[in-house]
Amino acid sequence: MTKRTGDIDTSSRPANASNGSRENGGGSSDGFASLGLSPALLKSVQAMGFESPTPIQRSAIPPALEGKDVLATAMTGSGKTAAFLLPVLQRLQDQPKGTTRALIVTPTRELAAQIVEHLDGLAKGTGLRGKAIFGGVGAGPQEKAFRKGVEVIVATPGRLLDHFQHEYARLAEADIVVLDEADRMLDMGFLPEIRKILRHLPARPRQTLFFSATMPRPIAQLAGELLRSPVRVEVQKKQAPPSAISQALYPVPGELKVDLLAELLRRGDVGNVIAFCRTKHRAKRLAKKLEKRGIAAAEIHGNRSQKQRTAALAGFRDGRYAVLAATDIVARGIDVVELDHVVNFDVPAVPEDYIHRIGRTARAGADGEAYTFVSPQEEKDVGAIERALGRRLPRRLIDDFDYKAKTEERFEIPVGERIAKIKERKREERARAKRNAERKKRNAEGQSNGRGGGSSRRN
Ligand code: AMP
Repeated sequence: MTKRTGDIDTSSRPANASNGSRENGGGSSDGFASLGLSPALLKSVQAMGFESPTPIQRSAIPPALEGKDVLATAMTGSGKTAAFLLPVLQRLQDQPKGTTRALIVTPTRELAAQIVEHLDGLAKGTGLRGKAIFGGVGAGPQEKAFRKGVEVIVATPGRLLDHFQHEYARLAEADIVVLDEADRMLDMGFLPEIRKILRHLPARPRQTLFFSATMPRPIAQLAGELLRSPVRVEVQKKQAPPSAISQALYPVPGELKVDLLAELLRRGDVGNVIAFCRTKHRAKRLAKKLEKRGIAAAEIHGNRSQKQRTAALAGFRDGRYAVLAATDIVARGIDVVELDHVVNFDVPAVPEDYIHRIGRTARAGADGEAYTFVSPQEEKDVGAIERALGRRLPRRLIDDFDYKAKTEERFEIPVGERIAKIKERKREERARAKRNAERKKRNAEGQSNGRGGGSSRRN
């Protein structure tokens, strides 16, 4: 692809966790062994291909292993999942099995499923089991897991509270609690549920590991209530995208966004790509329109069942779909290994969402690129993002892409226009009904006049 405008500026990128794995270079002296992990866990860490701990792992694991509370500020992509799973697994390793002793609460189904997947990898050789508990799927197998006393339950708040209605879900021995992505739970309105959940857990001293990407006041307050003399671990002071991500803006008329994405795919500028859309409707339309052009695409958003979402993700992971058209439900936490590109098909309205979206690429030190399609109407949202990043993002135009092309079919008819059309149709219907009524009235009058005339003639 030819870049007409300035290329990627890497100068002002802040350091973040993902640098850690490279800085540490996998050297054994400052590797996982120095953190005090058991041989079984060291083996599984190695089997997962983790050579050296990321900064969050290096700081959070030792105090957590000692049983201390931890308050960690870390984003998805920093290696935070293993930062809490490893100490939890180690602390449970020597305890009798068959009782749920740790509860991990996380905001979304995808995160819950992903944490359990991560746990399955790390827990190999320990005999410990994890189970994801979330809505949108049958509760039967989840009930079974409670009854069996699976050692670690990983749950989203709503479904967990449903289970708590039943006797079988008493977690009387769960005295390790992890709150994952606490700020996201706040965004999703889950804080009252969190407080309710904690009331169901044993009141005796417990260990709490508290993870959040940011620390807005209600989250800091919750942490203050829950944690006892916590060790504070802060990997990033400022919200910032991982350093290895190149970012660029693609100005394009809104109607040509599908064409632009198809063109980038055709040229091989983007490979497997998550395309983030503003609404479920737009994600759905994007997937349909790409399919129509012969590009394998799947959609993932809140209107899809859990089964459909899982199938879409699996198909994307194994390369069956070139594009995953998504809304922000997958922006946080979804771990797709080796994702080279993220495309913001629409500019996110909130800078924080931008950072989370592009965090899907360049995980744990890999390089990645994030492209944002910007229609003229979206320029002001880009301004907010650039202010949050503290720099201008480079803009790219593709040389032989026809930015003035006319599309036969529009991607989306704006709401105002749709309403105007409906009003116009209603106006026409009313006018037609009125004309019909008048015609009927005239006919009726004509007939009665005719009848009157006849009778006078008869008389
Ligand atoms: P997380 O922030 O927990 O979502 O992790 C992001 C990604 O980094 C996942 O794909 C992990 O498997 C991977 N990861 C976690 N820890 C390490 C490590 N120490 N070295 C390399 N990759 C890691």
